[in-house]
Amino acid sequence: MRSLRIAVMIALLASLSFSFSRSGGAVGQPEPLDPLELACPSLIAAYHGAEPLPATMVPDDQGGGIKEDIPDKYAGRYREWKKEFLSTDAGRSQWAYYQDNRHFTLTIQLSHDNAEGATTGNYKWNEAGQLVAATIALGFHLDQGYPNPIYFPVMNSLLLTESPNRIAGITLAATKLAHEFGHVNRTAKVDPKQYQLQSQLMPQYNRIFLSNGRNASDPRLLELARQLGGTPVEIWEDREYWGEANAMVYLGDRFTEDSLRCSLFSRMRQSIDLYAKSYEERFLAIVQSTPAHRFCGWQ
Ligand SMILES: [Zn+2]
Repeated sequence: MRSLRIAVMIALLASLSFSFSRSGGAVGQPEPLDPLELACPSLIAAYHGAEPLPATMVPDDQGGGIKEDIPDKYAGRYREWKKEFLSTDAGRSQWAYYQDNRHFTLTIQLSHDNAEGATTGNYKWNEAGQLVAATIALGFHLDQGYPNPIYFPVMNSLLLTESPNRIAGITLAATKLAHEFGHVNRTAKVDPKQYQLQSQLMPQYNRIFLSNGRNASDPRLLELARQLGGTPVEIWEDREYWGEANAMVYLGDRFTEDSLRCSLFSRMRQSIDLYAKSYEERFLAIVQSTPAHRFCGWQ
C-alpha cells in the first residue's frame, strides 16, 4: 500500500510539471509556471481553483457572524443548498457557531471562476493569533461535478456508480459546503505563523522541485520541508482530508437509512484505503461516534 501511495504522490507531483512543459514558448524557454499550480497540486486546484479574491471594502471590525454575499440571480439555488446543509445536526450546529460568533466573520460568496468547485481563503488573524475572518467562495454550479477520489474520497462517494440510488445535486452542493466549513474549522486550530509560512514557502518548494529534475532529496528541499513541517503534497493532503472529515460528518447525519448510508460509507472506505490510508484514523473516529450498527464495514 505504501508503494501505491508513493506512486500516487509521484503522479501528482509529475502532473504539477505539465505547465512547465507545455509548448508555446520559445525553444529552451519554459513558459512561466502558473502560480496556482505552484501553490497546490493540480488535482486539488481542479476542484478548489484560486483563493477567493478579497472582498471589497472589508473593514477591520466586521462585527462577526456570517455575511452572505449572494447575487439575486443565484439566491434561489443558494437557499436550497443552505437549507440542505441546515437539515442536519452537524450543519445547524456549525452554522449557529459562526452565526453567533461576534469575534469571527465568515463571508460566503458565489463565484463564476470555478463553477462546480468551491474554495476557502482570505484568512485573517488578530494580533493574539486568533482567526477572525475567512471567505468561502462557492461555484454557481456547486450542485454538479464530483471531485476526484484521491484528495476527495468523501465527496466522490456521492457518485455511487454501482448503486441504483441517485443523490440529489443539492446534497452534493451541501456536502461541498460542509467540506469548506471543515477547512475553516481546521484553520482556526492551527498555528497561524506556520500556516502563513506554508503559504509562502510551498510555491518556492514546488518551483525548485520542478526545476531540479524532481529530486526531493535536494538539500534545499529537505530544508524547506523541515521548515514547512512536511512536503507540500503532505501538507495539502492533510488539509484536504480535514475538509473531507467534516463532509463525512455531514453525510453521516444526512443519511440515516442503512442501505444508502452503507453504500456511501463503503465507497468512502475504498477510496480512503487506496489514497488516504495514513489519515484513516480521523475518518474512523467519525464512524465510531455513530451507533455500532451503522459502522457499514468500517470496524
Ligand atoms: Zn478542500
